[in-house]
Amino acid sequence: MTKILVVGLDGATLDLIGPWAESGVLPNFARLLKEGSGGVLPSTVPPMTPPAWTTFSTGTTPGRHGIFDWTRRKPNSYELTPLSATNVEAPTMWKYLSSRGLSSLVINVPMTYPPDQINGIMVAGMPAPHWDSSVVSPPELFHELKTSVPTYELYPDPGEAYSRQGVESFIQRLSRVASARVEMWRELRIKRDFDFEMVMFNGTDTAHHALWHLMDPDHPQYDPNAPEHHRNAIQNYYIEIDGYLGEFLDVAAAEKRAVLVMSDHGGGPLKGLIHVNNWLLQQGLLRLKGSIPSRFRYLLYRLGFTPMAIYDLLVRVGLGKLKKAVVRGRGRSLLTSLFLSFNDVDWDSTIAYSTGNVGQIFLNVKGREPKGTVDAADYERIRDQVRSKLEQWRHDGSPVVEGVFYPEEIWTGENLPSAPDLLFLPRGLEYFGFGEFEFGSNKVFESLRRGISGTHRMEGIGLWWGSGISVSSSNTLIDQRLHDLAPTIIHLLGAPVPTYMQGRVLLEMLVEQREIETVEFEGEEPPDAAIAFTEEEEALIEERLRGLGYV
Ligand SMILES: [Zn+2]
Repeated sequence: MTKILVVGLDGATLDLIGPWAESGVLPNFARLLKEGSGGVLPSTVPPMTPPAWTTFSTGTTPGRHGIFDWTRRKPNSYELTPLSATNVEAPTMWKYLSSRGLSSLVINVPMTYPPDQINGIMVAGMPAPHWDSSVVSPPELFHELKTSVPTYELYPDPGEAYSRQGVESFIQRLSRVASARVEMWRELRIKRDFDFEMVMFNGTDTAHHALWHLMDPDHPQYDPNAPEHHRNAIQNYYIEIDGYLGEFLDVAAAEKRAVLVMSDHGGGPLKGLIHVNNWLLQQGLLRLKGSIPSRFRYLLYRLGFTPMAIYDLLVRVGLGKLKKAVVRGRGRSLLTSLFLSFNDVDWDSTIAYSTGNVGQIFLNVKGREPKGTVDAADYERIRDQVRSKLEQWRHDGSPVVEGVFYPEEIWTGENLPSAPDLLFLPRGLEYFGFGEFEFGSNKVFESLRRGISGTHRMEGIGLWWGSGISVSSSNTLIDQRLHDLAPTIIHLLGAPVPTYMQGRVLLEMLVEQREIETVEFEGEEPPDAAIAFTEEEEALIEERLRGLGYV
C-alpha cells in the first residue's frame, strides 16, 4: 500500500511550466518532470472547474456525476441555480476510502461544499460562501483552525485585479492565500497519519484569468509600460508554488508517499467573448416577443444599450461601485428592466438557447422546458441542424468552432438527460462562449477591453512522482484522463476499485504490477433536496463567478 499526496493546481499548464522548468526557474517542477511519469492531462468538455474537479474526485464523467457547469437550469425553468456538492451524484473517492477504513485530508477542492463526512478531515472549497464552520468537517475543528491559521482564505478573487489599481493587492493576496493554504496543510497533517492527503491552490487559475495580458506581448491588452513585477506576476506565482512543491516532495520522499501534481484544465490567453444567444437570435433559432415593452428593449439593445456597454460607461465615469447595482442584477434592480433578457424571449417559437459559460446549447424541448417547442420526433433532426450551423459558422473568414459534441458521444451515465443538448469548443479556446440571461452585448463577438484576459485550455497536467511510480526518463506521455486518477490512487492505496468509477488504473505507470481488484460500492443516497443557498450567499457566489468571467 502506497500513501499519496495530491497537489491540485487549478488551471496549471505545461505551456508555462515546461519552458520555465527548462530555464531553471522552477527547479522542483523540473525534478517532477525528470523523475516522474505522466504529463498532459486532458480536461472535461467543457474544460471547466466544476465538471473537471468532480470528474477527478469521483472517478466518473459528467454523464455519471451530473455536474456540467457552476450552475444548472432549474427544473421546468429557463433560470439557473448555483450548484454545490449536494448535486454531485457519484460518491467522492474519499467517501469510498472512508468505507474501507482509509483516512483522508482534503483541503479546498472545488465542488466539495458542503463537505462530506469522512474518515479524516475536509476543508471544503468553492462554492463555499463564507469561511465558517460549515466549510469544515468535522465542524468543531473550525474554531481551532481560525486561531491556528488566522490568514486562511477560501479563494483569491481575481476581480480586484480587473482595475489597474487592484493588481498590486491581488498579487499580494495570491501569495498570502497560497502560504495560508500550505500552513493549513502543515497544521492538519500533524493530527494524524493520513493515507490520502490533498491540498488545492486556486491561484494558478485566478492569476491566469486576471494577469495573462500583463505577461503576453501578443495579447491585445498587453501594456509594455506596466511595472515589471506585474508583467512577471504569473511567473512569480509559479515560482512560489515551486518552492512549496519542494516541501511537498521532501515530505513525500521521507514518508514514502506517491505524489500527484495535477490540474483540472490548462490555461491560455482569452481574446474575446462570444455571445451565443446573439448568434442564435441571428440564426432565427431564438426569437423575441413582439410585445411593446420587448420591442422597446430590443430597440435599446440595437442602439447598444446593453449591460456591457453600461458597465463600460460606468467604469469610465468612475462609478465602478455603482455598476454592481446596475449591471446584471438578474431582474433585481430597476435598470435591468430596461435590458433585453430571457424575459423577452418568445419561448413558444424558440428552438434553441444557451445558458452557461462555455458553449452549452439547449434545445427548447417539449415536456422538459416550460414552453418547449421541439418534439421528441424532431429532436435528432433539429439537433443535427444546429450542429451543422455551428460547424459552418465563420468569423473573419475562419471557423469559429473547433468541436461540437453531443453528450452521449463523450460520456455515459444516468445523468446524460440533464446535460446540454450540444456542447461546443470555440477554436483554440481563445474565445469564451457565453450564454447569458441578459443579452450582455448586442454583438456576437466582443473583444476584451478590461477584466478577464486569460481562460482555460483542454490540456491540464497530471505529474506522478515518488513511491510506487515508475520513472520515465523521457517524460513519456501516459494516456491518462481525469477520471483515471481516482481509480489509480485507490489502487495505489491497496484498495479494490469501486465499479461505479468509469476510469482505469494507470497500471503502466506503476512499479508494482499487482492485479486490479474491483468492488461494488453504492455510497449513500444523495440528499433529496440540494441545499438552498440563501439569497445573500447566492449573490456572493454569483459575484465570485463573475470575477472569473462567468455568469
Ligand atoms: Zn479550474
